[in-house]
Amino acid sequence: MSAGERSLAGWGRQPRTVGSVSEPTTLAVARESIAPAHGGSLIPRGLGRAYGDSACNDHGRVVVCERLDRFRSFDPRTGLLEAEAGTSLDAIIRTFLPRGWFLPTTPGTRQVTLGGAVAADVHGKNHHHRGSFGGFVDVIELCLADGSVVRCSRDQHPDLFFATLGGMGLTGLILAVTFRLVPVPSAWVNVDYRRTRDLEHTLATFAEHDARYEHSVAWIDCMARGRRLGRSIAMHGSEAAASDLPVPWRGRPWDLSVRRAHTFPFTPPCSLLSPTTVRIFNELFYHSHGSGRRVVDIHSYFYPLDGIHHWNRMYGPSGFIQYQAFFPRESSHAGLRRLLGEIVRSGAASFLAVLKSCGPADGALLSYLEPGHTLALDIPYARGTIDDLCHRLDRILLDHGGRLYLAKDAMMGPTTFRAMYPRLPEFLTVKRRYDPNHLFSSSQSRRLGIE
Ligand SMILES: Cc1cc2nc3c(=O)[nH]c(=O)nc-3n(C[C@H](O)[C@H](O)[C@H](O)COP(=O)(O)OP(=O)(O)OC[C@H]3O[C@@H](n4cnc5c(N)ncnc54)[C@H](O)[C@@H]3O)c2cc1C
Repeated sequence: MSAGERSLAGWGRQPRTVGSVSEPTTLAVARESIAPAHGGSLIPRGLGRAYGDSACNDHGRVVVCERLDRFRSFDPRTGLLEAEAGTSLDAIIRTFLPRGWFLPTTPGTRQVTLGGAVAADVHGKNHHHRGSFGGFVDVIELCLADGSVVRCSRDQHPDLFFATLGGMGLTGLILAVTFRLVPVPSAWVNVDYRRTRDLEHTLATFAEHDARYEHSVAWIDCMARGRRLGRSIAMHGSEAAASDLPVPWRGRPWDLSVRRAHTFPFTPPCSLLSPTTVRIFNELFYHSHGSGRRVVDIHSYFYPLDGIHHWNRMYGPSGFIQYQAFFPRESSHAGLRRLLGEIVRSGAASFLAVLKSCGPADGALLSYLEPGHTLALDIPYARGTIDDLCHRLDRILLDHGGRLYLAKDAMMGPTTFRAMYPRLPEFLTVKRRYDPNHLFSSSQSRRLGIE
């Protein structure tokens, strides 16, 4: 590795790449890093929470944006916030939740930048009601391949706007984002827990609760087989009013200090998550959650994994993949049944398996979600076996009109990608218009043939 080069991977810790990294601290320096004089391709990177290689550029340049983190303006009448693209969701929550404002939708970690949230068009547990993050974005300020800066929106350069939302950093370097925060009555969520018997029961619980609750999510026991396949703990939640809160918080409903996080201190020589440990964990988790209602703080409900820094080290040096599959509503029952059956048969232990409901797409050209369900599975990586398993899972997705989420993908091939993303030709037309020489390129985009 030469000076300035760093070994980089996504959150799944594989595949590992080598990139020449720059870390601008001002927008002017960020713009300068685009200059063609630097040579070679580049990809922007936020906090590296995408699981695969979308924020990696093997033997190319990587521009890390996390220090572009200034707030520009906030309108307390509308909730409109403009901030630089490296600003983290964590910083936004720490600043605005105490004033009664929260994110309109949020991924399962706060350690995501605004640039990463826009580039992956992230979704939360309320997609069935609110759609993806892009639905709340008014303006994206973008530095293009020729060094010019444009502001794009639904009215100005809409082609660029809808290619950049979910465009995985391939249209330009996002400098700033203007989007809407939403008012919340407290920093707490009223959660209805249901222990379900099997997949039918899980989906019936979603069907019964989705309309009434803002947020819907279920943890699925991926070790359960036979009659218990797809059993889960479903957790439907809605904003809690101040009067619902535990007594000490009623007078200060947004005053929530983040609990001190622990750190997973080292990388063990092999994954700690064997089928045996996962089976024990799953049994304990399933049986320790009865059905009932509880008021839970925002951090515990939305970000349970943020309580342990570097939890991804648990998977050892080989890392893991997250396989996040979307199925359209009409085929989700059959598709999920086949997918879970394949996972159980393969013995690929997933202790994190999360099912969510999804609503309408938001117009992004590489939009991932439509009405249906999405299931995310963490699987320890082992060369060969997991590649084969993923190809079998991809086949199931294709048979049911489903697709894989680009922010999690580390393994998909170009043919599968083209079949899953029918608006790719429109995306490529925009990409050619604004980046004819493919300055913006990642390990993922080359693997998927987005060139
Ligand atoms: C524990 C955990 C839970 C998660 N839960 C969810 C979830 O519920 N829903 C969901 O949708 N996602 C989820 N994710 C994925 C995560 O939200 C996305 O991968 C997000 O894009 C990561 O943002 P980042 O800042 O870390 O970006 P990176 O991971 O660094 O980059 C991701 C992509 O964004 C691009 N990008 C980053 N910054 C810029 C910029 N300034 N300009 C242009 N492009 C840029 C990169 O090129 C890359 O293609 C989760 C991830 C983790 C680790």
